Amino acid sequence: MSSLEQMYQQVILDHAKRPHGRGLVDAPGDHRTGESHQVNPTCGDEITLRVDIQGDGAGATVAGVSWEGQGCSISQASASVMTELVTGHDLADVARLDAVFHDLMASRGKGLDDEDALDALGDASAFTGVSQYPARIKCALLGWAALKDSLARSGALS
Ligand code: ZN
Repeated sequence: MSSLEQMYQQVILDHAKRPHGRGLVDAPGDHRTGESHQVNPTCGDEITLRVDIQGDGAGATVAGVSWEGQGCSISQASASVMTELVTGHDLADVARLDAVFHDLMASRGKGLDDEDALDALGDASAFTGVSQYPARIKCALLGWAALKDSLARSGALS
């Protein structure tokens, strides 16, 4: 295993051990919220995620993400990394990060040629190796699917 792979693995283990955003939090009453429950039956992972959105229209930002989940360390770590990554970003940024992470997961372990895009992913770039394993890609994408659905349910995208 290369030192980069070891570093990536450590990032995933750290997030699985001390997940960011775990424990559902009520949003302030004047914020939009959306919630979504997603299941990955092939691995047994589950997540219930709540998004807290401040503002409206183009200025709407993700003020907070909280979630409850169970399952493998990849699914839990990915939800944690995603929580850290998207919090404070406007919805256009979040959609872009979601697209870049999906590109990474489709890279079959090769990663991304666009280094700026990879940099923007922060700790989420640690999931590069996961993209070699089709069964684990679903684990890594579970939190992102819950976020996307939560945003749709919040009404903030319309
Ligand atoms: Zn899993």
